[in-house]
Amino acid sequence: DTHKETLGFQAEVKQLLQLMIHSLYSNKEIFLRELISNASDACDKLRFAALSDNSLYGDDGELKIHVSYDPAARTITVRDNGVGMDRQEVIDNIGTIARSGTRAFFEQLSGDQQQDARLIGQFGVGFYSAFIVADRVTLSTRRAGLGTEHGVRWESAGAGDYTLENIERAERGTEIVLHLREGEDELLNDWRLRSIITKYSDHIQLPVLLDVRKPAKDDEPETIDAEQVNKGSALWARPKSEVSDEEYQAFYKHVAHDFEEPLAWTHNRVEGKLEYTSLLYVPGRAPFDLWDRDTHHGVKLYVQRVFIMDDAEHLMPRYLRFVRGVIDSNDLPLNVSREILQSNKVIDSIRAGSVKKVLGLLEDLAKNSADKYTSFWEAFGRVLKEGPAEDFANREQIAGLLRFASTQTDTPEQTVSLSDYIARMKDGQEAIYYITADGFAAAKNSPHLEVFRKKGIEVLLMSDRVDEWLMSHLEDFEGKRFVSVAKGDLDLGAIESEEDKAQQKAVEDRCKGLVERVKTALGDAVQEVRVSHRLTDSPACLVVSEHALSPHFERLLREAGQ
Ligand code: ADP
Ligand code: MG
Repeated sequence: DTHKETLGFQAEVKQLLQLMIHSLYSNKEIFLRELISNASDACDKLRFAALSDNSLYGDDGELKIHVSYDPAARTITVRDNGVGMDRQEVIDNIGTIARSGTRAFFEQLSGDQQQDARLIGQFGVGFYSAFIVADRVTLSTRRAGLGTEHGVRWESAGAGDYTLENIERAERGTEIVLHLREGEDELLNDWRLRSIITKYSDHIQLPVLLDVRKPAKDDEPETIDAEQVNKGSALWARPKSEVSDEEYQAFYKHVAHDFEEPLAWTHNRVEGKLEYTSLLYVPGRAPFDLWDRDTHHGVKLYVQRVFIMDDAEHLMPRYLRFVRGVIDSNDLPLNVSREILQSNKVIDSIRAGSVKKVLGLLEDLAKNSADKYTSFWEAFGRVLKEGPAEDFANREQIAGLLRFASTQTDTPEQTVSLSDYIARMKDGQEAIYYITADGFAAAKNSPHLEVFRKKGIEVLLMSDRVDEWLMSHLEDFEGKRFVSVAKGDLDLGAIESEEDKAQQKAVEDRCKGLVERVKTALGDAVQEVRVSHRLTDSPACLVVSEHALSPHFERLLREAGQ
C-alpha cells in the first residue's frame, strides 16, 4: 500500500502561488536559484547530522547538487543527496506556510503587480517559485537514515491540492522534477541553464553539476556528461579581493532567504589568538517578523566550513537581530551545541568582535552614504534604539548612530544625530533637551516646548514606543547630560541671563497668593503647584517630578499590565 492521499494546500499557499506565478514571471529564472539554495541547505543539514552519526552518509559521502533537463519530456530536474524528508516533513514543509507575519503579509498585498512582486520577494518565494515555470512539479525524497522503502512522492499542479504517496527510493535526498509550462522550452538547453546557475548560484559551496547533452552525430549516439558549473568553494573563505559585488549580493540572497539586494556588508578574517571569518550583511528592508519574539534566519554558524546551525542567537545581540550572514570559526568543536554556545569564551569574543564590525559598518554608512543610512534608519532604527539598554559597553557608539526628530525641522523624519544637536547648542547650554510623547504631534505641540522655542533652543522630539526605554538607559553623550523638558524643575542654567532670573523672581513673588489658592483647590490631586517660566502661550501644564516616570511611560506600563 503506497498510502496515496490527496491533501489541500493551506489557503495562504493557494493564494501565494497564484500571485507569485503572475507577479514574478519577469523574474522567472529565480526558480533555479531557490531550488539550488534548498538543495544546498539540505546538504548542509546532512553534513551536520553526520558529525554525530557518520552512518547517515551510507555509501554516498560526496554531497552534490545535480541539474539536468530532458527536451523530449520537457522537464528540468534538480537533485541533491542531502538530508531529504520523511512523509510528515514533506507535509509540514511543502504544503504549509508556518511563518509568522503571514497575515500581515497578505494584508499588505495591493494588486499592483510590481509592488506585490517586491512584497512576495520579501516574504520569501522558496520552493513554490517552481510553479512560475512549471504546471506540474514532482518531488521525490527519502530522509537520510531511513530504509529505501521510506521514500515519499509529492506531486502538485500548483492549484488547490497535492498528492502524497510512499515509494521505494534507492537514493537518499530529494529530486524535484519540473514539468514545464507551455512556451518555456527555451529553458531546455545547457547554455541557458549554465548561465542561470552561474548568475545566481556560483557562490554555492557544494559542486553544482549540470548534465550537458551532446546530440547524436553520424554514428555516435547522444552523450550526457555531468560538468561542474559553479566554483564550489565557500564564498566567505575566499579573499575579499577575489569576490565581486555581484557574488556578495547573490550569496546574501541565499543566506538571508531574501529576494532583494542587501544594503551593505562587511567581510573579515580574524587571525591570531582566535581564528574566524565573518561575512555580515545589513538587509535593504525589514522582514515581516522583525517584531516577533522568535525571528528566524539570523547569522549562521559554521565550524571549519561545516554548517552547524541557523539563527545562532548567541552570535548577535537582539538589537542587531536584523543582521544576516555567516560566521565560520576554527576554534569551536564540530559537535558544538546550543547549550555550549550559551556560555563559551570563544563565542563571547566572536560576538564582541562581530558587533564592533557591524557598528563600524553602520558608522561608515552614516558618514559616507547618507542615503543608505537613511533607509537603514527607516527600516531598523527602532531596533537599534534597543541597543543602549542591551549593550552597555557599546552604549556611546550606538548613541552616535541614533537619529531623532527635533524642533530644528519640526518634521517627523528622524534625521538629527546627537553630534548635530551638540554642534548647534547655544552658548551656555549644557544639556541635550528632549521630550517623549506617544505621538509625533503630541511631542511637537507640547506646551513644555514653549520656552525653548522662544529662546531658539533645539529639543529632540521622541515618539517611538521604545524611546522612553532608550532614554532611561542614556545618561549623557559626549559629556552632555540628557534632560527631559517635561520633568522636574527646569533649570536652563547659563542660558538664562541675570535679568531673566530677576524678572522671574518678581513674577513668582507677585503670584504667591494665586499659587496658594490653586493648591487648595486641587488638594491631593497634585504634589505641588509652581509658577512656571516654561510657558509662553499656554496658561498651565502638568509636570512630573524629575525621578518619576513620565506620563507616557506610565501609560505604556499600564497597557503592558504592570
Ligand atoms: P526556506 O528555504 O526559506 O525554508 P522554501 O520554500 O525554499 O523555504 O523551503 C521550505 C522547506 O522545505 C525548507 O525549509 C526545507 O525544510 C524543505 N525543503 C525544500 N527543499 C528541500 C530539499 N531539497 N531537501 C530537503 N528539504 C527541503
Ligand atoms: Mg529556500
